[in-house]
Amino acid sequence: MVTSPQSARPGDDSWRGKTVVIIGAGQAGASAALRLRRQGFDGEIILVGEEPSAPYQRPPLSKKYLTGEIGETQLLLKSESVFGEQSIQLLTGCRVTGIDRAARLVYLSGGRPPLKYWRLVFATGGKARPLPESVAESFDNVMTFRSLEDARKIRASLQPGMHMLVIGGGYIGLETAATGRKLGVDVTLVESADRILRRVSCEATADYFRDLHLRNGVRILEGAALRGIEGEGRQARLARLDDGSEIVFDLAVVGIGLMPDTELAEAAGIDCASGIVVDGYERTSDPFIFAAGDCAVFDYRGAPTRLESVQNAIEQAEHLADSLLDMAPSPYSPHPWFWSDQYDVKLQIAGFNRGYSQVVQVPGARAGSVSNWYLRGGRMIAVDAINDPRAFMQAKRWLGNGEDVREEQIIGIAGAAAV
Ligand code: NAP
Repeated sequence: MVTSPQSARPGDDSWRGKTVVIIGAGQAGASAALRLRRQGFDGEIILVGEEPSAPYQRPPLSKKYLTGEIGETQLLLKSESVFGEQSIQLLTGCRVTGIDRAARLVYLSGGRPPLKYWRLVFATGGKARPLPESVAESFDNVMTFRSLEDARKIRASLQPGMHMLVIGGGYIGLETAATGRKLGVDVTLVESADRILRRVSCEATADYFRDLHLRNGVRILEGAALRGIEGEGRQARLARLDDGSEIVFDLAVVGIGLMPDTELAEAAGIDCASGIVVDGYERTSDPFIFAAGDCAVFDYRGAPTRLESVQNAIEQAEHLADSLLDMAPSPYSPHPWFWSDQYDVKLQIAGFNRGYSQVVQVPGARAGSVSNWYLRGGRMIAVDAINDPRAFMQAKRWLGNGEDVREEQIIGIAGAAAV
């Protein structure tokens, strides 16, 4: 059991008058706030968010929101009234400008008075990595894709027949390319690495998705380094690659990765190393300050890790709330899972494939369904299940139970071929 400074239990009154300030009103921030209430915390909770809207879900932004299948109300994590009912003060459109750790004060934009905290939570997430300045100056039609505001702009720009250049072959890039094709947009995708999905998946999974996109009419250029983007005034017109070739476009969407938002924490002198460093109880180097979600780096299976996923944003933030109230029985120990939807294909990932040395491919029961199983030292650590929910569920069960699963067992779930 951790001992937090001045910990308290529900009903013992010592929380009264205490204030938890949460910086970041995204999935992690909202999850921490709601969990604090569910655990009986009856002090003040203030959720501060820089974006103007109430906490919303990001995953649909590059999919159903972009196609217009859902609107902004359907993006909301909870209706705004829920935060009121839970006595969670939502300060949206409000930026934290600094932190005084000695006085335990958080300074806010817009001339608002500073907030005094009992505990402070960083749920600041991340920012879309911009193109280097040497590649592109600021153009109105070259957009990163992270926030609702970004999605609004991209949605307003997409027209059938136009040409969209997607820069980056990760999830953002591939999902945006798929949505573009659905809307009748011409799409070219450039990836600087030698293949798409290099950071997150094995070659077999990348091959599946490359083929899927090619069949849907996306032009994919891998190992394609961008030398520069050229245009006139604030309108870009073409991208030039290192080999001298040109891609003319109407709109470019940049999906080249996420940078954890550590600016405030660093300025406040909190330990950061590619993320805000936290222990298994989400405590930073300051015992009164906690962090969770995309911004937090923690030890996962012996290596510093940031898990960029909705699941982690929720579960680590809920664990944080428990830790903050001295109610977490053990350190955070996630079983990661992720997903991505492209065209009519659902990719579900269970586990974390870091350090894999072997991949075993298992055909699924239906046409087009397949699973790629990752092994390290002969032991299964993760799976990419493509239109194969059965493989995903099986892997989740095995990993959740901590079972030592070997190649023979994986092959046993169908006829399999090592790749
Ligand atoms: P990502 O997964 O890191 O992929 C970005 C890709 O862009 C990498 O392959 C990167 O290659 C490449 N790249 C970097 N610089 C480039 C350049 N100048 N030109 C062309 N390619 C370049 O990140 P993301 O797709 O932008 O996603 C951002 C975040 O949103 C991540 O946390 C992601 O997990 C999350 N997200 C998740 C989902 C989902 O789970 N379904 C959907 C959307 C977004 P290198 O690795 O070689 O740098």
